[in-house]
Amino acid sequence: MANFATHITVAASASAVGGLIYWATGSVSAIQALLLAAAGSLGGMLPDIDSDNSRPVRIVSHLVFVILSFFLIQLFKTHSWIELAILIGIFYLAFYYAIMPTFKKFTSHRGIFHSLLAGLFFAILYIVLTFYFYRSSSAFAWLAGFFIFAGFLIHLILDEIYSVDFSNRRIKKSFGTALKLVGRNTQNNLIMAAMIVALFFLTPPISGFGKLLFFR
Ligand SMILES: [Zn+2]
Repeated sequence: MANFATHITVAASASAVGGLIYWATGSVSAIQALLLAAAGSLGGMLPDIDSDNSRPVRIVSHLVFVILSFFLIQLFKTHSWIELAILIGIFYLAFYYAIMPTFKKFTSHRGIFHSLLAGLFFAILYIVLTFYFYRSSSAFAWLAGFFIFAGFLIHLILDEIYSVDFSNRRIKKSFGTALKLVGRNTQNNLIMAAMIVALFFLTPPISGFGKLLFFR
């Protein structure tokens, strides 16, 4: 496994370059380019979200909180700043004291997040969030989901390349174990597949995504 610093550096620089290219070609606005960079960086960290090491989990959860807060503000942007501040305050408490602890409890050591299936899940979830909360075009929502998946894929490939564990202390014989299609637990795989199908029905039309992807 590549260490966390490597993951952040590679995912953040690759997605920043990606976002810049889309911005430079006039395909997306500056804020959208930032959102793409954030999506790619997040995708590059998500596979280790259920790892034992608490530092990656903490950093990923902060990033998830910031992105979700951004979506919430977009959704309620017609409200006054006082209402928005209260909303984000409540969301902060809910996120750090209810959602994250529950999430940690259910995801310990299952390894399902380190699979392409999970990458697909997060990508589709991000498409739905971007489309309904940020109210973007459907093509942009799909592009944002694509960045999540690309970041995720880069992470899994990096882990394959470095067969070293998180803290870099020892070499593991883990080659071939990082880039998995699905997790080991069949029940968890089925639950995740069911969630992907359910979310898929909420995704906006994919038409226009191909054009945006190739700057046309
Ligand atoms: Zn990993």
